[in-house]
Amino acid sequence: MAAIAIDGPAGAGKSTIAKLVSKRLGFIYVDTGAMYRAMALFMLERGTDINDQKAVAEEAQHAQISIRHENGEQAVILNGENVNGRIRTQQVSDAASTVSTVGEVRERLVALQRELAASTDVVMDGRDIGTVVLPDAKLKIFMTASSEVRAHRRYLELVEKGMEAEEEQIRREIEERDERDRTRAISPLRQAEDAVLLDTSDLSIDEVAERILELWK
Ligand code: C5P
Repeated sequence: MAAIAIDGPAGAGKSTIAKLVSKRLGFIYVDTGAMYRAMALFMLERGTDINDQKAVAEEAQHAQISIRHENGEQAVILNGENVNGRIRTQQVSDAASTVSTVGEVRERLVALQRELAASTDVVMDGRDIGTVVLPDAKLKIFMTASSEVRAHRRYLELVEKGMEAEEEQIRREIEERDERDRTRAISPLRQAEDAVLLDTSDLSIDEVAERILELWK
């Protein structure tokens, strides 16, 4: 099956671009961050101490996570329930980057990601797709943007949703999460040797999508 792997830090524009590109190519878009978010939600709701690696590893065995595609949208199913509406909070973002450092959590989710890519053409985004999940992907993109630009995009997104937001605080949170993702022992965020680096700071969404479609051709 054909696969495009898109990795990079939070807010670089991965999901927006991956959705567009998958639509244009008729591939399925797989958002792996949503799976780590569902795992984090599960732990938070069970009252698990997410800083206790052993407890997280044990609890992870009780989370049944799968995904469904409905009208081109990915739905994350946690123990039978669609949790899309509950995984985008700041609390879940932070918890996702903490539980994702645990090997047992990653093993379960990577297995699910590989299963999906084995059965259908995918554009998959995350942190370790080009390096660990799909090392043989035909096209790998490492997408970045300055932390100011990433914070500003996230800020606009929240304001658009009518939520309160403070740009400087968002920037700090994004930087903290990136630092954790880059320095963890297992599958840290890093550019695969054969990945194409795309800095989206000064590019429009359409420009980035076009560039990837050209590379794919
Ligand atoms: O991409 P998103 O911001 O939704 O990811 C949430 C968190 O999940 C990331 O900060 C990262 O810690 C973790 N993650 C990961 N590996 C992936 C995707 C996400 O560790 N492939």
